[in-house]
Amino acid sequence: MAIHLSHQGLQQMTQLETIMIVDPDTHTRVLMQESISNASFDVITADSGRQGLDLCGEQMPSLILMNFHLPDMDGITFCRNFRDMVTGKDIPLVIVTEGDDVEVIKLAYDSGATDFIVKPVNRELLGHRLRYILRASKAMRSARTNERLLAEAQRIARMGNWTWDLCNEEMYVSGEICRIFGVPMASPCVFHQLFVNAVHEHDKQALDQAIERALSGETSDVELRIRRPNGLERTLIVHAESNAPASKKYLLGTMQDITDRKKADEAIRKLAFYDQVTGLPNRTLFREHLNVAMHHANRHGKKIAVLFLDLDNFKRINDSLGHVAGDQLLQEVSSRLKQSIRATDIASADCSHAQSNDANKHTLARLGGDEFTVMLVDLNNEKQINIVSNRILESLHEPFMLAGNRVVVTSSIGIAIYPEDGEEIDTLLKHADAAMYQVKSSGRNGVFFYDDELRRQSQNRIQLEGELYHALEHDEMTLFYQPKVSAKHLHVSGFEALVRWIHPEKGMIPPLEFIAVAEDSGLIIPMGKWVIKTACRQHQTWLEAGFGPISISVNLSCHQFSDRKLLHAVRDILEETGIEPKYLEFEITESVLMEDADTAMLVLGEMKKMGMKISIDDFGTGYSSMAYLKHFPIDVLKVDRSFIMDIPDDDREATITTAIIKLAHALNLVVVAEGVENAEQLHFLSALKCDQIQGYFFSPPVPAEKAEKLIKVPFTVR
Ligand code: C2E
Ligand code: CA
Ligand code: CA
Repeated sequence: MAIHLSHQGLQQMTQLETIMIVDPDTHTRVLMQESISNASFDVITADSGRQGLDLCGEQMPSLILMNFHLPDMDGITFCRNFRDMVTGKDIPLVIVTEGDDVEVIKLAYDSGATDFIVKPVNRELLGHRLRYILRASKAMRSARTNERLLAEAQRIARMGNWTWDLCNEEMYVSGEICRIFGVPMASPCVFHQLFVNAVHEHDKQALDQAIERALSGETSDVELRIRRPNGLERTLIVHAESNAPASKKYLLGTMQDITDRKKADEAIRKLAFYDQVTGLPNRTLFREHLNVAMHHANRHGKKIAVLFLDLDNFKRINDSLGHVAGDQLLQEVSSRLKQSIRATDIASADCSHAQSNDANKHTLARLGGDEFTVMLVDLNNEKQINIVSNRILESLHEPFMLAGNRVVVTSSIGIAIYPEDGEEIDTLLKHADAAMYQVKSSGRNGVFFYDDELRRQSQNRIQLEGELYHALEHDEMTLFYQPKVSAKHLHVSGFEALVRWIHPEKGMIPPLEFIAVAEDSGLIIPMGKWVIKTACRQHQTWLEAGFGPISISVNLSCHQFSDRKLLHAVRDILEETGIEPKYLEFEITESVLMEDADTAMLVLGEMKKMGMKISIDDFGTGYSSMAYLKHFPIDVLKVDRSFIMDIPDDDREATITTAIIKLAHALNLVVVAEGVENAEQLHFLSALKCDQIQGYFFSPPVPAEKAEKLIKVPFTVR
C-alpha cells in the first residue's frame, strides 16, 4: 500500500523544535510566542529564572531566549546554573537586552550565553534568526564531536597532527603531540622551540632533509628520536607535506610515537636473528652479513675469510658438568672470541695499510651447538687471518672455570676465503666446515685452510652427486646378496641385500663411495625405496622358483629411517610385491637409533606391528649399551666385523664377543657375526652358539644368479 503524505502531514510527523522564552513581561512573552510559533517552532514560556530552570529540568528545549533582567535572579546566575545542567551544555542561550548594553553582553558571554538580540525585537525576522542560531550551534556541536573523536583516535594511535609556520617559527600541535612530548599544551611559539630542542642531535640532519623534501612538494617521512623533559627518549615517525609548496612557508603533517612498536620489533628481531645463549648473531644474521660483505668485497676488490670454529669435546663437558655449565662455557667462549677479533688485531697485523677496519663489520656468530663462525672482512693478505685465528686458539686454550672446575678446551678452526674458495654463502660455509673437519681428523686443536685437496674432493663429490642422479634414472644400480649361513646347519638362512652401482665407465662402485653422497643429497630416499622393492621382488622370484621362503635384509640409513614417508612406502611395496612381512628384515645401526630414540621407538613399533624383523647392524661400534637395547623391539644383533677380525687370538676381542653373544641370547635375540673370513673364527663362534655367520669365508656379496646357486648347494666346512 502506497502512503501519500501532504506537506502538512509531513510537518506534523517531524518533531518541531522547542524554543523556551524566559521573560517576566507577559506582553513580550505573548508577542514573541506568536511570531516564533508562526515560524514552525514549539514554544514554552517561563516568567522567572527559577521557573525556566525547572522547566529545563523536565524537558530541555532546543534553544532558550531570555531576558537578561529577571525578577528572581540576574541573567549571569541563570546562565551559569543553566550551563551546569548536564543536558544544558550545548543548548544555545540567546540574551534579549535593552539597547546595545556592551557591559551586559560581555558579562552574558562570559557566563555562557551564545548570542544576543537587542530590543525592540524584529518579530518578522525572529524565527529566521533563531533558526540560524540553531543551525550554527549544531554545526559547532558536530565540529566539537569530530574534534573529540579525532583527539581520541590520535590518542589511540599515539599520533597527533601539526602545522608549522616556518617564517614565524610557530608550531600548532594537537593535544596528543603534547602528550607524546610529555609537556602541557603550549603556545605555538613555545612549542616550536621545545620541538627543535627535543630532537636528537643525530637526527637533526634527517629532519632538515625531510623538511626540504616536503617544501619541494614531496610527501616526506622521517624517523626521529626526541628527548622528553624528564630525559626519556621516544621514537617518532614524522610525516610532513606542504599544501602550498610555492610559498615555502607552511608545512603540515603528523607525528606518531612508535617507541613501543620499535621495542616489540626489536624483541622479535632479537629472537629471529640472535642466539639466545650468547647473544651473538645466529646463522640467519650471519648469512645476511656475509651477503652484504660479499657485495662490498666485490666492489672494492677485497677478500673475506670465513672461519668455522668447533670446540673439541664440548659434548663431553656438557654431559659431565650439565647444561648450565655448558651454556656458561659458550658465553665465555663468545666473549673471548669477541676480544680476539677486535679490529685492532687485524689492523696491527698489517700496519702498512690504512686502518680501515671497522670492528662491527667483522661478524662473530653462533650457528648452534658448539659451532661458531667468524667473518673477517677487508682483508689484504693471509697473514691477517693467521694472526686472528692463532689469537683465537690461544685465547681459548686458557683454562675456563666452570662450576668450580678448571676446564681446558681446545678448538678446531677451518677457513675458507671468498672468492677463491666459493662464490656463494653455502659453498663458503661448507668449505670452511670441511677444512675444520680436516683439523679434527688430524688430531684437533689447530687451523686449516680449505685447500686444493679439499677442493678436489668437493668437486668430486659434486660430480658424483650429478652422476648418481643419472644412475638412478638410468637403472645403473643393482643389488648383490650376501648369504647369512646357519652356524649349526651350514645352510643359507637369509641374504643381506647390498647395493652396487655399475658405472658405465668406472665399473662397479662400492656403496661406501656413494652412500654418504646419497645421504647428503637426499637421493638415498628414492634409492632406498628401489633397494627395498628390488629385494622384495627377488624374494618372491625365489619363492616362485620353488626355493622356499628366504629372508632378505635391507640396510636403512639415518636419512631413510627418519623419513616420515618410509612406512607408507614399505606398506606399498609389501602390497605390490606380495612378500610376507616376516621375511623382510631392516638393518639399522645403533647410532641411527640413538639419534632420536623417541621417534625410533615409534617407527620400530610400527614396523613390528606390520610384521617385519629388526636387526641392529655393526653392534659394538656405537653406544654399545645392551641396557637400552632391551627397550627397543629388536630381533637380531649383528656383531661388528671389527670384533670378529681379531678373534680368537686377541683376548680382549674374544672376551667382548663372548659377552655380546651371551647377553644377546639372554635377551632372546638372534646373533649374527659379520665379516667372518676364516675357519678359526667360525669354530670359535660356533662354540659360543652364535646363530648365523656372514662373511667372505662363505661368500662375498654376489649377484642374484650366483646367490641362487648358494641356496641350492649347502656349505661344508673342513
Ligand atoms: P654393512 O651393512 O655393514 O654391510 C656389510 C659390508 O661388509 C658389505 O660391504 C660387505 O661386502 C662387507 N663384508 C661382508 N663380509 C665381509 C668380510 O668377510 N670381510 C670384509 N672385509 N668385508 C665383508 P659393502 O657392500 O661395501 O657395504 C658397505 C656398507 O654400505 C654397508 O655396511 C651398509 O652400511 C652400506 N650399504 C650397502 N648397501 C646399502 C643399501 O642398500 N642401503 C643403505 N642404506 N646402505 C647400504
Ligand atoms: Ca648391514
Ligand atoms: Ca654391518
